[in-house]
Amino acid sequence: MTIMFNKHSDPAAAGPGNHRVRFADLHAGYPGRPVLRQLTAEVPALAMTALVGPNGSGKSTLLGVLAGVIDATSGQLRFSEGRPPAFVPQRGAVGDTLPLTVRQTVEMGRWGERGPWRRLNRGDRAAVDAAMEQLGVADLATRQLGELSGGQRQRVLIAQGLAQQSDLLLLDEPTTGLDPEARGRITALLTELVAGGTTVVQATHDLEAARAADACLLLSDGRLVGRGSPDQVLTPTALARIWQPA
Ligand code: ADP
Repeated sequence: MTIMFNKHSDPAAAGPGNHRVRFADLHAGYPGRPVLRQLTAEVPALAMTALVGPNGSGKSTLLGVLAGVIDATSGQLRFSEGRPPAFVPQRGAVGDTLPLTVRQTVEMGRWGERGPWRRLNRGDRAAVDAAMEQLGVADLATRQLGELSGGQRQRVLIAQGLAQQSDLLLLDEPTTGLDPEARGRITALLTELVAGGTTVVQATHDLEAARAADACLLLSDGRLVGRGSPDQVLTPTALARIWQPA
């Protein structure tokens, strides 16, 4: 099989109305387990894109490919000019019992620049402070991660992503398992980030969050079955087709 995996910057694609990421005929998965098949789509710049689909449809895998932690097996992936993406994993993937304070957790967002456990410089500390302020977790700085509510912990993880100072933020199910108030707060924060010039991609089960996005990619069994505005994509027919009643 020919592998045509191209990952390079495309300066012409930057700016509003353009695309931050494009992929074409993308295939990816895990050893012995192909997951994503033949995906072709774009992520609009300076907008919110929701990746929607049932459990196991490949949302996390696609985020992993966009984040550069999973290699595509074939296809093309192009990023417009910008910083490497910041990836906010699922809350469940982050140990609640790790003996880390909120500040230490957010500081880990600087490791890509500085290296693990290195002393942070003044610029790093300013980025960490700004991210904690923006997510409303500065007053929790010395608390242990494990002591926090789900919504607070999620905001800490988003602050860790923001501390990376990327213009492309990828989030895996940031509102899953939160109460409606915490969900609304996260959605409002993400909308604010987009207004401030960040391109956001979030995998979500939360149809309310997906309807509030600018663009939707609908996945079913590793294939893209819808792309466009939420109104175009999240139709009752499309949703009924992929979310069969149990
Ligand atoms: P979603 O995020 O939509 O729930 P995932 O991308 O997590 O979907 O999973 C897609 C498919 O890939 C599932 O069948 C899942 O079991 C499989 N999968 C996920 N992670 C791994 C892994 N590390 N190794 C093998 N298979 C995996």
